[in-house]
Amino acid sequence: LRANFSVIQRETGFVNGLIAVLHDITEQEKVEEERREFVANVSHELRTPLTTMRSYLEALSEGAWRDENIAPNFLKVTQKETERMIRLVNDLLQLSKLDSKDYKITKDWVDFTEFFHHIIDRFEMSKDQNVFFVRELPKKSIFVEIDEDKITQIIDNIISNALKYSPEGGKIRFRVRELDNEIEVSIKDQGMGIPKDNVVKVFERFYRVDRARSRKLGGTGLGLAIAKEMVTAHNGRIWAESEEGKGTAIFFTLPFDPEQEDEWS
Ligand code: ADP
Repeated sequence: LRANFSVIQRETGFVNGLIAVLHDITEQEKVEEERREFVANVSHELRTPLTTMRSYLEALSEGAWRDENIAPNFLKVTQKETERMIRLVNDLLQLSKLDSKDYKITKDWVDFTEFFHHIIDRFEMSKDQNVFFVRELPKKSIFVEIDEDKITQIIDNIISNALKYSPEGGKIRFRVRELDNEIEVSIKDQGMGIPKDNVVKVFERFYRVDRARSRKLGGTGLGLAIAKEMVTAHNGRIWAESEEGKGTAIFFTLPFDPEQEDEWS
């Protein structure tokens, strides 16, 4: 704790007041430390693709461009790294928007059952892996007030992760449960899982269980951190349950008013 004192003095010279401002420096230092760490992470994340690109471009300019067997491959690497940097910068811009005080979401009433089916359909149509989708969704409409674009982004990210980590022939289960005053959405895979101590950390910015692997799969390490901010902006909660070697389930909730539902039916 740090105290700043200011003396209130009249023109006459008499002291007739004292203002003490108490700062919680531990909190302030923590924020400062987090900020430093974040900047270091961003720099590191950008430096890695940049140095890779530099060495490939150097090789190309030193003559590799003439070699038909090498040049296309080297160009593909630089292209891939550029795309990853664009994704990273887009994610960072989004986080910075989410962090700003006057961040607003635009909510509309949406039938969540239909909305979720559409998203799953989209993945089911385009997936090129041998993975089975199992849907445990309500048979009826469930109306919730959400920002469709934001929730789509959250779900896209969770499903992409589930697919990335799913084994050949694995199952991904999609479930929506209606609770008292919220709905609980979960997406569960049968992948490698997350070590017990890291289950909470996956929602932190830039945290990855396996940095090299996440990079290879094109990840930025920001997807779940963005999801957390967006769920919080909807007054929901998000968490993970996982067992190493068995699989991972990501859960999130959204406020839901069962009475509202009666009005719609
Ligand atoms: P990334 O861009 O690395 O996927 P995320 O924020 O989406 O970043 O996820 C953070 C980390 O959480 C991942 O790098 C991975 O280690 C872990 N993770 C997320 N989803 C899963 C999953 N379904 N199975 C196993 N690990 C996961």
